[in-house]
Amino acid sequence: MTTGLVESLKKGDRRALARAVTLIESTRPDHREEAERFLDAILPLTGGATRIGLSGPPGAGKSTFIERFGLVGVEDGGVPGGRRLAVLAVDPGSKRGGGAILGDKTRMSDLSRHPSAYIRPSSAGAQTGGVARRTREAILVCEAAGFDTIIVETVGTGQSETAVAEMTDMFVLILPPTAGDELQGLKRGIIELADLILVNKADGALEPHARETAAEYQNAMRLVMSSVPGWQVPVRAVSALTGDGVAAVWDDVVRFRRVLEAGGLWRERRAAQAKAALWTELGDGLIERFRAAPAIAERLGEVEREVAAGQRTVAAAARELLEAFLR
Ligand code: GDP
Repeated sequence: MTTGLVESLKKGDRRALARAVTLIESTRPDHREEAERFLDAILPLTGGATRIGLSGPPGAGKSTFIERFGLVGVEDGGVPGGRRLAVLAVDPGSKRGGGAILGDKTRMSDLSRHPSAYIRPSSAGAQTGGVARRTREAILVCEAAGFDTIIVETVGTGQSETAVAEMTDMFVLILPPTAGDELQGLKRGIIELADLILVNKADGALEPHARETAAEYQNAMRLVMSSVPGWQVPVRAVSALTGDGVAAVWDDVVRFRRVLEAGGLWRERRAAQAKAALWTELGDGLIERFRAAPAIAERLGEVEREVAAGQRTVAAAARELLEAFLR
């Protein structure tokens, strides 16, 4: 079954792609085993795409931008025949049906109908760790299916950006035009993750605001060291609505990849990300087993209560549980 699926996926079969993504998203233990065999089989076909993380506050225009950027990309994107683009949405914080990037059927409707595009909304209600793993694996599936550009979109809530930056090559921040003193409100840590900053809605009455905001960010970015030598983080005013400035973003993507590859950073980053992901998996797996161990399950509630009530120290409580687990 795995071999057939791999072959169909390689040929770009849509149904195979949907089946593969459903398989890796399943939490059933037998599916999980199959998913791991499957991922093992596709590994040689992965790694080629440019992985772009895209984040911004709700309402900044993420969907509108991705639709426009995607349509420009699949028609051209700086390569003959256009790009093949996959969009994966990550929504770690959302409760069922709640998040802004869930279930809205009108999102990216033209792009989603294009034969060179694939859009996968996030499934709701999962824990952050699970979401990160599934997204990492979905990236691999899309690469095996021949997509050359993958956008991982997340709502800018302050928690998910780091996770997304850790699984992508380039982190793009998209912001609405704001008044000067609101700039401070944006978490510095998130600005520091950005490899490219877009100030959206540079059209109509908002255009001067957007340009002003972009200039202010440009100034602010002078004080932030880029994590990539030879790369000054561009700040662009764009309009997802009119498409103004959007094609230039594809140039940025191509340029950024070139800079990373030239400095050897491309491979270094991918390697470091893979290592970090391994440790995350190990940590998650250990904690899962720890909780499930009978010796722990029996004592955990009691020990948690004792610690919460201040009746014993955290260190002693942790040591007791670890010793019980390892016995
Ligand atoms: P998201 O929550 O970040 O995905 O934002 P959306 O893409 O849903 O856009 C939020 C609102 O901003 C919608 O009403 C869009 O029509 C509007 N919008 C998005 N991009 C632009 C733009 O470039 N210019 C203008 N004027 N409005 C925009």
